[in-house]
Amino acid sequence: MSGAASRSLLRIQERFVSLQGEGSLVGVPSSFVRVSGCNLRCVWCDSPATSWAPEGVQAEVDEIVDFCRRGPPHVVLTGGEPLLFPALAALTRRLRAAAHHITIESAGTVWLDDLACDLISLSPKLAHSTPWERDPRWARAHEGRRLDVANLRRLLGAFPWQLKFVVRGEEPGLSEDLEEIESLLTTLEVEGAARAQVFLMPETVDPGALAVAYRRIGVACVERGFRLGQRLHIQLYGHTPGT
Ligand code: SF4
Repeated sequence: MSGAASRSLLRIQERFVSLQGEGSLVGVPSSFVRVSGCNLRCVWCDSPATSWAPEGVQAEVDEIVDFCRRGPPHVVLTGGEPLLFPALAALTRRLRAAAHHITIESAGTVWLDDLACDLISLSPKLAHSTPWERDPRWARAHEGRRLDVANLRRLLGAFPWQLKFVVRGEEPGLSEDLEEIESLLTTLEVEGAARAQVFLMPETVDPGALAVAYRRIGVACVERGFRLGQRLHIQLYGHTPGT
């Protein structure tokens, strides 16, 4: 693909209009554009059609802008890892010009110049995401890439942000995850009231398991000043594409 083509085309796995299910804008009607392709391989990835077995069709930036124009003011660019794709920067600038509110969901391991972004929703991946048993070769790559502190600092400094950590809802996993999160937040100097911009979300995609996980994780949130991260789309629709 030529450089010009790569700047105007994005491989899209799905696009749809629904309610934002996670983070500070939970419940807000939004257009979702899910880009296919990721530099990580979380063992529990909930969108494997963008990572382990990527699929999708190439779409022009113009076409995606038109799709969003016909939907709500809020747009969520997700993946996969959207920041891997140069065309995303042009897409965000076009969406900004059309007065959309732009959320970008990212694991925070990649930087992309010239982005327009109203909320960078960062989901750094914890140690339990590494697929040691599933795929040792990918596990080594994933482990080497999953936390890029310098890049996280740069993103936190550049845009309004939230941090969303996927945590295990049972012990001893939950305590291990909390220890890793606290260490990272200390390194990133996220402290005081800013800790309420840190969401802890249960790993499960089983609607029946959410309530118990919320209660366990909620205790940690109260003790530590984090925010309980909902997975509203799972509660409402189950683990269903296009929601
Ligand atoms: S970063 Fe996101 S899309 Fe990539 S493997 Fe992990 S959960 Fe899946």
